[in-house]
Amino acid sequence: MAAESDAVHGGRRRHVLLFPLPYQGHINPMFRLAGLLHARGFSVTVFHTHFNAPDPARHPQYRFVPVPVPDGTSGPAPAAIEDVIAQILALGAACESGFRDRLAAVLEEYSRDAVACLIADAHLLPIFEVTAKLAVPTLALRTGSAACFACFLAYPMLFEKGYLPVKESQRDMPVSELTPYRVRDLMVFLGDDDRGSLRELLARAVTAVKVSSGLILNTFDALERRELEGLRRDLTVPVFDIGPLHKFSPAGDSSLLRQDRSCLDWLDARPPASALYVSFGSLACMSPRDLVETAWGIAGSGVPFLWVVRPGMVRGSAHQEQELPEGFEAATRGRGMVVAWAPQEEVLRHRAVGGFWTHNGWNSTTESVCEGVPMLCCPYFGDQMGNARYVEHVWRVGFEVGGELERGAVEAAIRRLITGKDGAEMRARAGELKKAAEECIGKGGSSCLAIDKLIAHMTSL
Ligand code: UDP
Repeated sequence: MAAESDAVHGGRRRHVLLFPLPYQGHINPMFRLAGLLHARGFSVTVFHTHFNAPDPARHPQYRFVPVPVPDGTSGPAPAAIEDVIAQILALGAACESGFRDRLAAVLEEYSRDAVACLIADAHLLPIFEVTAKLAVPTLALRTGSAACFACFLAYPMLFEKGYLPVKESQRDMPVSELTPYRVRDLMVFLGDDDRGSLRELLARAVTAVKVSSGLILNTFDALERRELEGLRRDLTVPVFDIGPLHKFSPAGDSSLLRQDRSCLDWLDARPPASALYVSFGSLACMSPRDLVETAWGIAGSGVPFLWVVRPGMVRGSAHQEQELPEGFEAATRGRGMVVAWAPQEEVLRHRAVGGFWTHNGWNSTTESVCEGVPMLCCPYFGDQMGNARYVEHVWRVGFEVGGELERGAVEAAIRRLITGKDGAEMRARAGELKKAAEECIGKGGSSCLAIDKLIAHMTSL
């Protein structure tokens, strides 16, 4: 990698301005990008909403600029995906005027020439528009896969060709234009006509990328070479595949919830590859029924487990204690641990973890891939179905639980993953993928080269 002085301009550090979307799965990669750019000599200013605001005390090296939004636009985090989409659309619009004022003040202070660019989450189109009006170049960060963004681009075509809205009878139909996706893997509301908000969300993200000076993706060549080539054909802006970002900069602790580190001691006492790690990320919510089937499936499998039961993870309940079925603790005593939030990257890196039961958020998926941990896939919404499809059918490092959660099927799936021959083969393939990821992030690897290109691009804008 090039030296720190890359970002120094006219004897002054170049400033980079960042604006993450305020959800955990978007904040984490943006802060990793911040760490990477800071290490390369940029000074970092982070704009943020009060909703899910970062804690400046944990990042003394950055400057934080809160952007006011009108009352009623933010928090608490909604449980249903439709509401998350509505909240994202509302947040972007609500930030617009407050951001304009704050950005103008920052530009006056730093001097326009010292600011390299603003990097915003692709879901914040109004931020791109305001920034462009103030003649500051923008770059878009998409925190999902390249395949997922190809799906965003293809959305109008999916309607034109009749794949969407989804018809129950066509759920298993392959989408030949987006191999290996089937209709059920697309970013859609299954069993429901699209009500326009998702279409708007995706169209806005596409516009944000097209009006920007480049697209930054938290993915890498070993995972998505073909998909990246496709995006480079379809887009006129440069695409920087600089992932996996969490491997490029130290954990800056951008966690919104307190991570319970005691689970690492618990894992220390377990044999290698013996334990199942279970987590469904920061937004997915399950029904009380699914929680019961999940719990008894885990209990019945006989496999040691570390389970993240996030407060509010079960629809209609806000307290962890109330969420686990009676008798579960006694049935699994000494064999499992339940925490409200885990240091996930460290957990996945732990030698005791033999499998990950995941919702397949893109961060969780890449974190698992990078540690060679095979996955049991249980996607909920958004890009998660598509990610699970890649895990099972392209990289072959996991499989979907499938269908309605039922304790017998869960038990069998867990055993297959942790103690089965099948699971061992997936673990071996995951180990190969881990090595391929290491090559991408090593000296001269594709992601390293992409980072150099990104920095050269930023300083040339
Ligand atoms: N995470 C964590 N502790 C947990 C569960 C998740 O730190 O107990 C982190 C995880 O490492 C990942 C992020 O939260 O970086 C979740 O992002 P992802 O894209 O997987 O899912 P989302 O939360 O956006 O659905």
